[in-house]
Amino acid sequence: MAKTKNEATTEGARELTFGGVWNYAPSLEAVDHVTIAKRHDLFVGGEWVKPKSGQWFPTIDPATEAVLSEVAQANDKDVDAAVKAAAKAFPAWSRLSGEDRARFLFRIARILLERAREFAVLETLDNGKPIKETRDVDVPLAAQHFFHHAGWADKLDLLFPGQSPRPLGVVGQVIPWNFPLLMAAWTIAPALAAGNTVVLKPAETSPLTALRLCEVFQQAGLPPGVVNVVTGDGKTGAALVRHPGLAKVAFTGSTEVGKEIQRAVAGRMVELTLELGGKAAHLVFEDAALDQAVEGVVRGIFFNQGHVCCAGSRLLVQESVHDLLVEKLVRRMQRIRVGNPLDKNTDMGAIHSAAQLARIRELCDDGEQNGCTKLQAVCELPSKGHWFPPTMFTGVSMSHRIAREEVFGPVLSVLTFRTPEEAVEKANNTSYGLSAGIWTDKGARILWLAERMKAGVVWNNTFNRFDAASPFGGMKESGFGREGGRQGMRAYVRLAGGLLPG
Ligand code: NAD
Repeated sequence: MAKTKNEATTEGARELTFGGVWNYAPSLEAVDHVTIAKRHDLFVGGEWVKPKSGQWFPTIDPATEAVLSEVAQANDKDVDAAVKAAAKAFPAWSRLSGEDRARFLFRIARILLERAREFAVLETLDNGKPIKETRDVDVPLAAQHFFHHAGWADKLDLLFPGQSPRPLGVVGQVIPWNFPLLMAAWTIAPALAAGNTVVLKPAETSPLTALRLCEVFQQAGLPPGVVNVVTGDGKTGAALVRHPGLAKVAFTGSTEVGKEIQRAVAGRMVELTLELGGKAAHLVFEDAALDQAVEGVVRGIFFNQGHVCCAGSRLLVQESVHDLLVEKLVRRMQRIRVGNPLDKNTDMGAIHSAAQLARIRELCDDGEQNGCTKLQAVCELPSKGHWFPPTMFTGVSMSHRIAREEVFGPVLSVLTFRTPEEAVEKANNTSYGLSAGIWTDKGARILWLAERMKAGVVWNNTFNRFDAASPFGGMKESGFGREGGRQGMRAYVRLAGGLLPG
């Protein structure tokens, strides 16, 4: 019988309280504390089951290095059981009317919002990102993905007219650690709306909100096996993408692993979408509203500690305003509050892991050793946990590693350009193609640039804005396929010919 929560493992649960006034939405029921089970099992066939591997591993709070919980390490047999559970659930789920599937998705979205505070606190603890962001971005946006895709569930024939859209089958989804709940929502919601069933593998360093989401699925009465969650490291992910029972693989993560997955599915009749890394160019022209551009640049690189695939990590500034913009950025950087992620005034939280911190330090050292000027905010950092202050490098050229490689941290590289043509050339001079940003007062220039930038998403006079209705995805080594909107739904259906191209 399905349990209503992770009962098997709540023994000895720790209680964590989040102090301060919390002001997300007055209609929300207040949740006084977040309880974290000492141990988490796997969610397979609607139940919490012990891993056949007999192994668990710790997940820590990056801000304190305290162990939050132990999480199951799923092996090949666990993955096989999860895929079989999803395959068993597929016929009934895919035959359900779109209206009925929509009801489940709406219910999930509503429960997620009712439990918003709990999810925000849990995400902040497990990931290190500030509560301000989990509260205002991650959780509401995750709910929005369920609301949005619920709306498509009964309109697939309108979305793909004359093309008889059909679900694919069991979808294997592997996601990264930087937006754990949001990535789970933006892959699960379209898959379910289209009538597929899912096996999700969250990142090993931030699995708690995906596991908590399973409680929401139970609360919403989602039929057993429609979503299954297997936790573990890269070996678990590799076992999932290799499983012959999958009809589709959706991967979000690094370009390196994305390429491995492409090789693993080659020669099989499996659909694949890849959402990979990025090295976005953020262009500022001399006619831009500079104070607004400064805010955009700060949001572009310091949001979520810079652990953002589409982060505006390469700032390209028109030469005539370089010194002024850098001066303004230095002043603004100094005002960023770094520290306790649970404090609602904190702007930048902890670096997600020791490994990520080492990577950030290595690339910064390389920049310094190769003649770039490091400008760093002076701030008192906690003695425990993983921390890195807001950092900017000037005097950077495209040959520097900090301009070419994804730092995935709060580190901005500043380069210059003289003409729009040079700006485009420099912006496109990267193996990635996920996102870009443009700050200028001239509408015609925005259109001219947007046509020429090789990036899946181009923001104009703003940056890092997301919406479930807006397709998101990359070009070149940033991957293929889209998440969100009509284009996102396309990745989860099979079309049987028809009048319109898919
Ligand atoms: P990662 O590639 O190391 O890991 C991502 C996931 O893949 C994890 O769940 C991991 O356990 C799993 N994995 C590792 N090896 C595997 C293998 N051989 N087979 C199958 N699964 C495997 O990435 P990360 O460090 O967790 O995340 C950071 C990366 O993700 C960055 O490069 C970032 O740009 C990218 N990212 C991209 C998007 C996007 O939408 N384009 C969004 C978020 C993050």
